[in-house]
Amino acid sequence: MFFDRDGTLNRDVGYLHRPEEFQWLQGAKAAIRLCNEAGYFVFVVTNQAGVARGYYQESDVDALHAWMRQELAREGAHVDAFEYCPHHIDGVRPEYRRACRRRKPRPGMVLDLLARWPVDKQASFLIGNTQGDMDAAAGAGIRSYLYEGGDLAAFVAARLA
Ligand SMILES: [Zn+2]
Repeated sequence: MFFDRDGTLNRDVGYLHRPEEFQWLQGAKAAIRLCNEAGYFVFVVTNQAGVARGYYQESDVDALHAWMRQELAREGAHVDAFEYCPHHIDGVRPEYRRACRRRKPRPGMVLDLLARWPVDKQASFLIGNTQGDMDAAAGAGIRSYLYEGGDLAAFVAARLA
């Protein structure tokens, strides 16, 4: 199962990179646990252009994801892999300034996960809060659902049923 991060699992506060700024959205941890318990791999796919824009480093992204893992572990939930794209065509850091096949709405992150993990594509879907998320899923040939707020665990449960 594929989850967008900012705006889906946590409140989108813009270029989030510190645990102190991180606020889980309602039912997010429980939604991941539901997918774990249903036998799905759980992946997070997130654009992190803040790296290209010079707002934070890749090490900050990794540290935040490690912190998320700890938080999830306390709830008996886990993410199998975090995928992020640090690139942006308008980046200020030359090494990150490019149009990347992995940046949503492009499907690269999802495709890379599908290549590495034995995923049941027919049974899987992506949940995100933007059209870019939906387009990335479509480009990778998996279903997607637009999450517009409310309890994420209830949202996921209804679609697993
Ligand atoms: Zn990239």
